[in-house]
Amino acid sequence: MIGARPVKAYRGTELHTLGWQQEAVLRMLQNNLDPEVAEHPDDLVVYGGSGRAVRNWEAFDAIVRTLATLKNDETMLVQSGKPVGVMRTNAWAPRVLIANSNLVGDWANWDEFRRLEALGLTMYGQMTAGSWIYIGTQGILQGTYETFAAVAAKRFNGTLAGTITLTGGLGGMGGAQPLAVTMNDGVAICVDVDQSSVRRRIEHRYLDVEATSIEHALELAYAARNRKEPLSIGLLGNAAAVFPRMLELGAEIDIVTDQTSAHDPLAYLPLEYGFEEWIPARDADPTGFAEKARRSMRIQVEAMVGFQDAGAEVFDYGNNIRTEAKAAGFENAFAFPGFVPAYIRPLFEQGKGPFRWAALSGDPADIAATDRAILELFPENTSLAKWIRMAGERVHFQGLPARICWLGYGERDKAGLKFNEMVASGELSAPIVIGRDHLDSGSVASPYRETEAMKDGSDAIADWPLLNALVNTSSGATWVSIHHGGGVGIGRSIHAGQVTVADGTELAAQKIARVLSNDPGMGVIRHVDAGYEGAIETAERLHVRVPMRET
Ligand code: NAD
Repeated sequence: MIGARPVKAYRGTELHTLGWQQEAVLRMLQNNLDPEVAEHPDDLVVYGGSGRAVRNWEAFDAIVRTLATLKNDETMLVQSGKPVGVMRTNAWAPRVLIANSNLVGDWANWDEFRRLEALGLTMYGQMTAGSWIYIGTQGILQGTYETFAAVAAKRFNGTLAGTITLTGGLGGMGGAQPLAVTMNDGVAICVDVDQSSVRRRIEHRYLDVEATSIEHALELAYAARNRKEPLSIGLLGNAAAVFPRMLELGAEIDIVTDQTSAHDPLAYLPLEYGFEEWIPARDADPTGFAEKARRSMRIQVEAMVGFQDAGAEVFDYGNNIRTEAKAAGFENAFAFPGFVPAYIRPLFEQGKGPFRWAALSGDPADIAATDRAILELFPENTSLAKWIRMAGERVHFQGLPARICWLGYGERDKAGLKFNEMVASGELSAPIVIGRDHLDSGSVASPYRETEAMKDGSDAIADWPLLNALVNTSSGATWVSIHHGGGVGIGRSIHAGQVTVADGTELAAQKIARVLSNDPGMGVIRHVDAGYEGAIETAERLHVRVPMRET
């Protein structure tokens, strides 16, 4: 079969491959392209601007065909979304190894990347798009919930009740913002140029209402804020127009951030164009379009700094908009911090990050059972319990039922082993895949995001994600990936991912025990090495070996 077609992951217990590991790879690849999950499935784009699952439909067919016969001691190699080889390995080796979007340093820029992409030689894999463990907007929801909870703890006495957040972007990731704010009891105004993004978030119950104008949005926001009630408001518009206008109006905004696709100037709509003109204008003159996009980003960032000067809590939410605004000549673009140094790093020090899993059965009852298991395993963690309960009630599954929660070193292996036992005992109707975002504590070098402002200045050291991929490969992960450019764009990050299958076997238990300790363990040692006290305390308490600290 050639060309675009709707894809949906297989459900149930019948295998289409030679084992559950291969089946898990197949179903998660299919799931990434399910129209319920992917933002633009016909173009193989899963999320994050142009983040693709595979290079083209021919490559998709070749991967599916290869997985069908891949043996339990073989490994398929994928180079930027195209399967390029099958090697004989062993039962502990990953079934798939993936390298996406990597370029040699001096060549690592968007222009060269796009030249090579046009030649059909590479693709942009984002983080979990090309590594087949994207689970829809929920994937980012918990991290976003954690971030807004940390904002509340830092500035607003632990709750966003009575505050208004202004943000841009209601796409695959950005669409989590309205629900994360309302879960923290706040009011959010979310601006997006794409009517379908606004509509989609309302359909999925991530967004409550749509306003018809800036004034209408503010009216709704003030009323909810005054009643201290949570409310999320979508507003169709260009963030580069709405943000400065709101500043001019003296809008009472407490928190400002943004998750438009600013990491890729071709995925940010400049002020000069209407939504319908986007694609033709971009295709006619990509360089000119990117310049205009940067100029618009500058206008948006200037307004964000203006809100900060007026007393708001302002942060960059990982889309690199400050760099692009600076490239457009705004010297003060870095006046506000990135969200990782501002709120997330203390969690990274403990190896905490976005642990996620999906039920290969397709049965939501399996996720409900794993939710109960998490509540039983970590009874002392009240914010985790709050999240799991709210997620159970409010999260609409996209594609295969899945769950995410942030767990740290010493916790992830416990959860993974429990899930494996539940598969073995028949409590779950099919195996579970356990993975994570590449945005994790020890798996990414990204100086504008995860490793911004490291204590020892090691922001751009990219040995850590490579070691992370190597150790996961050596520990028994089912698939492992090394990507470049996710989140913040080409030239700006290197990161690794892993996914491990809990199929209920003893071998899976041994692999899970290693991978789910060593993977977060990388986060602990990375932060010990950079001199973070929280990491040193975690390593000592949980006996993570760090040779330079041993005598
Ligand atoms: P996406 O492409 O799915 O959505 C981006 C949205 O921005 C689209 O709906 C688009 O219409 C809108 N948009 C573009 N230009 C706009 C403008 N000028 N004004 C208003 N809206 C505009 O992308 P996504 O997956 O939601 O990711 C958004 C950004 O967040 C990316 O840069 C991504 O790298 C970053 N990101 C951050 C994190 C994090 O943890 N902070 C995680 C993942 C992604």
